[in-house]
Amino acid sequence: MSDQSADVVIIGGGAAGCAAAYYLAAHGVNATVIEREGAASHASGYNAGGLNPLEGHGWPDPLQPMALQSFALHKELWDSLPGETGIEYHGRIMSILKVALDPEELDDLKATLETFNSAPEPGFSAEWLEREDVLALEPRITPEVIAGIRAVGNGALDGLEFTQALAAAAEKRGATVIATSAVGLRLGQAKVDAVVTSDEEIACGAVLIAAGPWCRSAEQWLDIAIPVDPLKGQIIRLRPDGPGLEYELIGGGSSMYAKTDGLIWCGATEEDVGFDLSLTDEAREDILRRAVRLVPSLSGAEQVLHTACLRPVTPDWLPIVGRAPGWDNVYICTGGQKKGILLGPAMGKGIADIIAAGSTEISLEGCDPARFGQNP
Ligand SMILES: Cc1cc2nc3c(=O)[nH]c(=O)nc-3n(C[C@H](O)[C@H](O)[C@H](O)COP(=O)(O)OP(=O)(O)OC[C@H]3O[C@@H](n4cnc5c(N)ncnc54)[C@H](O)[C@@H]3O)c2cc1C
Repeated sequence: MSDQSADVVIIGGGAAGCAAAYYLAAHGVNATVIEREGAASHASGYNAGGLNPLEGHGWPDPLQPMALQSFALHKELWDSLPGETGIEYHGRIMSILKVALDPEELDDLKATLETFNSAPEPGFSAEWLEREDVLALEPRITPEVIAGIRAVGNGALDGLEFTQALAAAAEKRGATVIATSAVGLRLGQAKVDAVVTSDEEIACGAVLIAAGPWCRSAEQWLDIAIPVDPLKGQIIRLRPDGPGLEYELIGGGSSMYAKTDGLIWCGATEEDVGFDLSLTDEAREDILRRAVRLVPSLSGAEQVLHTACLRPVTPDWLPIVGRAPGWDNVYICTGGQKKGILLGPAMGKGIADIIAAGSTEISLEGCDPARFGQNP
């Protein structure tokens, strides 16, 4: 017997699940989000918040169209969600200052220059910077710098507050967020009748698996393959002795994310170590060594916080968004890899459209759940 019922039960309250709940609400579909540790308690709360829709694994084909659609959705959201929810997440346009400290990095600069200057949509551009131009823009960069580029048009936000704002806006429009753990499914004929939690059963019209790197739990429940694995990322937040950065700064193996409170987030590691979330001295020292090489004055910066979280990554690095093979009312939305905040709105809107209306204008090329076959 079910204790409760919902149109759609979403397992996972990260960016993927909360975006799906938000866009389902726009279709008039009430979702119940099951989240065992609080919305945005994992990668969706501890990511760098960079929104670069032009570069990454899976770019330009097939992910760039989805990324640009998602970036456009982000701009709509950052105009509306903070007012609607009272949660400010500082969505904004943010330029990238990418520099070469070694000759081997010059090709990467040229590639980014070309990518931004040939972007398929207006609003993006990049310019080449000689060494002295770089130092004029940001005098704290090491004098070792060889050259750089300034790429304009991408974005940034605070990932924790963004995901919380999505959850809050979804709740305002009729969704419910429940603090519990999904432990199984009650199955009917090619469909799921209810989601079993540690506390109760929730009868549902449909279920959406949006459990980030924990999606494999549902493989046994459904006898399908959902090959998502964790890729650990550690980040260090620094308070510089002076003003924060005005750019996202990349070079010499370091990436630095400028936050509106003046902090600089430095990272991130990419570690294939399963679900281990430990903070390691090795990672901290490596991140700091690279950061101090790029900006020597950071050697005196206060270390404010060191975090670790897990990116959900599929074997082909493409998200999984769509109906689960062999099941009438089971859907999957996961695999955002290093771009799950950027892609979150498009992934969430895409799956919400499919659940509520059967189709979507979001480009989901390469994201079909059936590509991994029916059985794990
Ligand atoms: C260091 C780092 C930096 C990053 N930087 C960026 C960036 O700059 N830009 C960008 O776009 N992306 C970035 N990412 C990637 C991005 O954070 C992730 O792709 C995204 O947050 C994944 O969202 P998700 O909702 O799929 O998964 P998650 O955020 O992991 O959410 C899944 C949720 O499901 C819950 N859950 C799992 N199983 C169950 C269950 N059985 N019952 C109940 N709840 C369950 C978990 O508690 C979790 O909260 C970064 C990631 C890392 C690690």
